[in-house]
Amino acid sequence: LTPIANLVTQTTCPYCGVGCGVKASLKADGGIAIAGDENHAANQGRLCVKGSALGETVALDGRLLHPKMRDADGAMQRVSWDAALDKVAGGLSDIIARHGADAVALYVSGQLLTEDYYIANKLLKGYIGSANIDTNSRLCMSSAVAGHKRAFGEDLVPVCYEDLELADMVVLVGSNTAWCHPILFQRIARMKEQRPAMKLIVIDPRRTATCELADMHLPVKAGTDVWLFNGLLSFLAHRGGRDNAFIEAHTNGFDEALAVADAECADPATVAKICKVDVRDLLDFYESFADTEKVITAFSMGVNQSTSGTDKVNSIINCHLISGRIGRPGMGPFSITGQPNAMGGREVGGLANMLAAHMDLDQPVHRDIVQSFWQSPQIADRPGLKAVDLFRAIEDGRIKAVWVIATNPMVSLPDADQVARALSQCELVVATDIIEKTDTNAFAHVLLPALGWGEKDGTVTNSERLISRQRAFLSAPGEARPDWQILCAVAQRMGYSGFDFSSAHEIFDEHARLSSYRNGLPDATSGIAGKSPRLFNLSGLTGMGRKDYDRMAPVQWPVQRLPDGSISGTARLFGNLQFSHADGKARFVPTAPRSPAHLPDEDYPLTLNTGRVRDQWHTMTRTGKSATLANHIPECFVDMHPQDALLYGVREGALARISTRWGAMVARVQHGGGIARGSLFVPIHWNSQSASDARVGALVNPEVDPVSGEPEFKHTPVRIEEF
Ligand code: SF4
Repeated sequence: LTPIANLVTQTTCPYCGVGCGVKASLKADGGIAIAGDENHAANQGRLCVKGSALGETVALDGRLLHPKMRDADGAMQRVSWDAALDKVAGGLSDIIARHGADAVALYVSGQLLTEDYYIANKLLKGYIGSANIDTNSRLCMSSAVAGHKRAFGEDLVPVCYEDLELADMVVLVGSNTAWCHPILFQRIARMKEQRPAMKLIVIDPRRTATCELADMHLPVKAGTDVWLFNGLLSFLAHRGGRDNAFIEAHTNGFDEALAVADAECADPATVAKICKVDVRDLLDFYESFADTEKVITAFSMGVNQSTSGTDKVNSIINCHLISGRIGRPGMGPFSITGQPNAMGGREVGGLANMLAAHMDLDQPVHRDIVQSFWQSPQIADRPGLKAVDLFRAIEDGRIKAVWVIATNPMVSLPDADQVARALSQCELVVATDIIEKTDTNAFAHVLLPALGWGEKDGTVTNSERLISRQRAFLSAPGEARPDWQILCAVAQRMGYSGFDFSSAHEIFDEHARLSSYRNGLPDATSGIAGKSPRLFNLSGLTGMGRKDYDRMAPVQWPVQRLPDGSISGTARLFGNLQFSHADGKARFVPTAPRSPAHLPDEDYPLTLNTGRVRDQWHTMTRTGKSATLANHIPECFVDMHPQDALLYGVREGALARISTRWGAMVARVQHGGGIARGSLFVPIHWNSQSASDARVGALVNPEVDPVSGEPEFKHTPVRIEEF
């Protein structure tokens, strides 16, 4: 490891969406010292065990350090950057010429920095002219995005972390916050210690570590969240707790949403039966919600990763709209993002159905704004294929070339063996990665080495819209390059102008300028009045010099520049009760409850739930290097209720075969994960490169939410037998 400078570097943790500030420096023994940044608003000096172990994950073993290409015998050989870039640019151009723009695709990642993400979108949507660019963020929070857009007219997270501390009641839905967003959980825990009257309610089928602090755990049956929140909407409407003035002045669609909720969920006893919770607990929760002004309802993957994920999100938002609990301190719905930069990807249009700067592909005026700003030869004119459909299109030959960047779909996508079938017959598979040997890279024709955390430079946005800098403190290893630079080099070889960037700073400036271009206010250069005001706006960050970008302090968007020249962010949205729909009002969305796509049956009598463990991240390509982190849970496992274990004849500690209609794997049986009867839990991290070969993605059904395209990772029929 070669440090750039022997100084303390302020940067941002690359793991979860909390986005903690990190201070990195060189130790006397040559290792990397890591500490929490006490000046960073997200974590105020604290780090969880994953963040603290960052120094153990930056060693170069296993790194992809040089461009490589497959030779005629199928072996990977080191090649020059020129040869690799010519191969990628030539291959993409050739396929576009023969089959059209939609025959190529990019599959990218919430691990990318905003600047990388911006260039990937510009290349595909503005120059190649296809929207077939999707991201692994599709698997994590696209239901929240779709829910926000339906309710607010734009993908907007109304609250900030401080609101979790100001609330008198925090409801955590489908979120093991203690393990998956530990620093946020610590902030809640500290506040609860100071104010014991503050209530914490956890709604989750599993009794997770998060429940240890909870005043109430509602062990809701997996997939029944819409019934539960429709029941709450009905309760608030008929038993007190509705804010008629707010509903009248600031919303639309209330009567329709209430009629749908009342149809099945007006009776708490019926809802309790469907959700399999005690009716007294359910009523306690409903009454507490009705009686508490400052309520935050925070939700995560247990809500999003579902074939009714978008409706689940809207059923939660509906309950905040009926009670007018939004836009003020300590209240509102709160999507806790999974990845460090899933939000940054959303800002630049990193999903197949979005354009840059929160604009929409299906709105001609938005397409015109983006194309005019980019001065690009074209603009994609319809949404592209979302992740699961994108890999289906590769398998059936509609997509002939795919460029996978910073992600490992062979492990992380549902029905992951389908990815193998798709990639094995794809004409051109390009992978940009920091790691050489992954399940996905085994299918690549060209491997391009990227810079990793500590080496690259740019910005990320966390769950509360806080933009922070990731800064380099290590020099580039081998021939690795920044992702944006690799993408720009390919674009230039394809003959496209508009990619003449020499730094992440220049890209960020263009991104910031696009956010305010014709955005509600007269454009500074053209004087053309905006036609489509959006709250996403970085106008206060435009025109920064390189030095200002380098020392940029974390700031929450929207960002304005004040008359005195200082920069001002925005902690919470909707304080003025103006939403982004054309009429300025929020929308209630009717959410008719429906069951998961596949229910248990005689052959597959249990339900498979998947998720994270505390000390690993994604497919373990980085956290897997740390002995400290491996100590927590050294091998993959399947957690099940002891009575189910007796029923199905599997012993604790024994290896068991777990099978679904899509795939099978082996894992060691354990109890104690707090799982309800009828369900199994398997973590998502292990893969065929790790000691225990266990890709649970291969077992997950590939059904998706019809609005968001997010897969149903929490509910696949499964059976188990001792191995
Ligand atoms: Fe990193 Fe998330 Fe832990 Fe913070 S809470 S240190 S962002 S993994």
